[in-house]
Amino acid sequence: MMDIAIIGGGITGLTTALALAKQGIASTVYERAPKLNEVGAGIWLQPNALKVLNYLGLKETILKNSIELDRVDITDSQLHSFKIGENTVQDHEGNKIVSIHRAKLQQILYEALPPNSVKLDYDFQLLNQLSNKVEINFDAGKVEADYVFGTDGINSKIRKQLFPQSSLRHSGQTCWRGISDIQLPAELKNLGREAWGNRVRFGFSQISDDAVYWFAVAKAKPFEKDDVSKLKNDLNEKFKDFHQVVNQIINHTAVEKIIRGDILDLRRLGKWHHQNVCLLGDAAHATTPNMGQGAGQGIEDAYVLAKLFASDQFIGDTFSKFEDLRRTKVDYVVNNSWRFGKIAHSSFGTFLMKSIMKLTPESVINRQLEKLYSLPI
Ligand SMILES: Cc1cc2nc3c(=O)[nH]c(=O)nc-3n(C[C@H](O)[C@H](O)[C@H](O)COP(=O)(O)OP(=O)(O)OC[C@H]3O[C@@H](n4cnc5c(N)ncnc54)[C@H](O)[C@@H]3O)c2cc1C
Repeated sequence: MMDIAIIGGGITGLTTALALAKQGIASTVYERAPKLNEVGAGIWLQPNALKVLNYLGLKETILKNSIELDRVDITDSQLHSFKIGENTVQDHEGNKIVSIHRAKLQQILYEALPPNSVKLDYDFQLLNQLSNKVEINFDAGKVEADYVFGTDGINSKIRKQLFPQSSLRHSGQTCWRGISDIQLPAELKNLGREAWGNRVRFGFSQISDDAVYWFAVAKAKPFEKDDVSKLKNDLNEKFKDFHQVVNQIINHTAVEKIIRGDILDLRRLGKWHHQNVCLLGDAAHATTPNMGQGAGQGIEDAYVLAKLFASDQFIGDTFSKFEDLRRTKVDYVVNNSWRFGKIAHSSFGTFLMKSIMKLTPESVINRQLEKLYSLPI
């Protein structure tokens, strides 16, 4: 039997294990955290991610634990959409965008896996590629595997070992995320909003009947820190000209649970694999979050790689095929997401985005979405 080690138990790692299991291939996920407890707020999963989760038999459970959104609109600070039109965004199978708590998503993925397939407290240190096998060194000891999938996120140690020249790009923006214990007015319940003001953005949506996920983005130098005692005031000040619901959302959030992180992505890697080791998800192609597609791309990686692995029966150039199938979309997401963030925080951003939205025909937008939401195999 083939030994497959997946290093990193985030959304990509767990989905990879599930997609392999669906093909009848066993694997073990090694996660450094002592328990699976995704810190973070909410996440938007778009139809391409939902397609894969449906294929894995999880769509119903996801829908029971999330809020389906008719669409996510870019708006002005008073929540008026830049786009005229109220179409529901969905793919041909009726998959919409869902808004879910990250911890809930991770729990659903974890509980769907065969028992004992996730090993916690395994902090990856170093790997040695032997002729046919890979020796993996964790804090907890050594393990050998035939194939290793590196799903250890944007700061991947596996990537640093395989491709030491890889580097991250700082966007010049920082992001606060939180969960607020309020209910949005009924007309907003099934809508995601991303409101643009003067070089600041505030996005939000309901993730359950009694909780709202939100994020706030502003320009900042790398590694700035907050004074937590002033954070709510600072955020309210930044968004004081916004619709009052924005300040209500901020005020109904436990300040100690607000997470701050600078917005980064990974400079394009020439390759995602070396011999029997392949990177997936953020470890391979971390994107800025502006298109809400980072996890979606990790989920697609899992689906495509598991299908190729099963059909190639572990021989040949499976990892090269994987890269060929995934590159175009991943590049599209990373590049457009980066550009989108730059526009949002430029002095002419609102004007430019409004013009783009008004001038772009619905048919063009639909074609782009169709490409984004379709799977390559
Ligand atoms: C502000 C923000 C908002 C976002 N919003 C969205 C959104 O709405 N929709 C969307 O699709 N995407 C979104 N994303 C992107 C999404 O969060 C990421 O793309 C996704 O979490 C990547 O999953 P991953 O499993 O590849 O990596 P991670 O989530 O980083 O998981 C990596 C896992 O590996 C483990 N690990 C790390 N190092 C080691 C080690 N040495 N040994 C063992 N284990 C290790 C970690 O503990 C972690 O569990 C957003 C990102 C940000 C920053």
